[in-house]
Amino acid sequence: MDLTLREHLDAHGLAAKKSFGQHFLLDLNVTRKIVRFAGPFEGRAVIEVGPGPGGLTRALLESDAGRVVLVEKDPRFIPLLNELATPDSGGDGRLTVVEADALNVREDQLVEGPAHLVSNLPYNVGTPLLIKWLTGPWTPASLTLMFQKEVAERVVARPGDDAYGRLAVISQAVAEAKLVMHLPAAAFTPPPKVASAVVHLVPREDRPERDLLKALERVTAAAFGQRRKMLRSSLKQLGGAELCEAAGISPEDRAEVIDLNGFLRLARAHAGLEQPTAPTDGGATLMRRKRT
Ligand code: SAM
Repeated sequence: MDLTLREHLDAHGLAAKKSFGQHFLLDLNVTRKIVRFAGPFEGRAVIEVGPGPGGLTRALLESDAGRVVLVEKDPRFIPLLNELATPDSGGDGRLTVVEADALNVREDQLVEGPAHLVSNLPYNVGTPLLIKWLTGPWTPASLTLMFQKEVAERVVARPGDDAYGRLAVISQAVAEAKLVMHLPAAAFTPPPKVASAVVHLVPREDRPERDLLKALERVTAAAFGQRRKMLRSSLKQLGGAELCEAAGISPEDRAEVIDLNGFLRLARAHAGLEQPTAPTDGGATLMRRKRT
């Protein structure tokens, strides 16, 4: 346990606030490990959301990040984080501290050029922040994010997994997503009620354009909104069996067996976009059961 971090917290009289989802990582061996999964940064900037007392920040400052930009909502931590930037604490001009709500911040105004995102996310806003970074106008170079374990599993789930749903389809349409580390509740101060896991995501070169992504969001919302129903029913509002036929997907299938390519075909059909001429695999049931 890194006592200086704990001492820092005590010296500033900082108790964790539940409303801000505060569960701190005070062990620098753990935060260094997370940063190893996130890097190398090769001089590029890193945005850290929710630095709190700065355990992850310290590991980021030891890395090859060209800049480290912190976005923290709780004003109590700002003086303590600013201390890390002073020359007395080894500050070398790479650290910028921003007091803001990460949900509203414009990342392209914080950094120039490509930047990586690293965060031990507050659990209450973890999913909305991930969706913002995956579907918003600004695209990070990579995302290394601590979630509660169940959310991490939903991000990386495959067709047929219990955790497979909208979050998996949207995340994997935009990025390659890997679960890289598990952490027990006891690793945090104070310990949360649930275990945690770190997901590393790298946005794809061929990620869907905005229109297709919007259509994908609509199709997956309808399909997984009634995941036990056949697609011809769950997608009824979007064209039902006809939409499925246009996408080469069996209307009798359920959302949970349709893979990413299948959903992309449904989304293209919904948005009136052309399908690729040579489908890579065409979804779980592409044309298999199509009747003549
Ligand atoms: N990174 C620190 C660590 O690992 O010890 C703290 C992680 S704690 C789980 C989440 C942090 O996010 C807290 O510092 C909290 O104040 C901050 N936070 C909560 N909601 C936020 C928001 N909307 N925008 C920015 N920071 C937020």
